[in-house]
Amino acid sequence: MAWRLGVRKGDQVKVIGGRDKGKRGRVLSVNPGKDTCTVEHVNMVKRHTRPNPAKQIKGGIVEREGPIHASNVQLVCSSCSKTTRVRHQFLADGSKVRACQRCGATLDH
Ligand SMILES: [Zn+2]
Repeated sequence: MAWRLGVRKGDQVKVIGGRDKGKRGRVLSVNPGKDTCTVEHVNMVKRHTRPNPAKQIKGGIVEREGPIHASNVQLVCSSCSKTTRVRHQFLADGSKVRACQRCGATLDH
């Protein structure tokens, strides 16, 4: 469940552990099964790719984001721009949204 991870695709997060500690970025993808996520420009890893002309792939070294453990990132509120924890809130229509624990701003749009 993505709820447990606390972060979702598109969220702003701050890296609080590992090689890229202190960096901020947008979550590109989450892997709830492994409790990992990839964050823009964080944990860049070099991938060696083989050329595959049929798929128009050029060979060489490509840099891309590697997965980091979800416990190494903290959500950044888009409203108060501080790292925060998520509070779950129910709207009048019964739907569940995530809200910033500091300022109360709704994080789901
Ligand atoms: Zn906030």
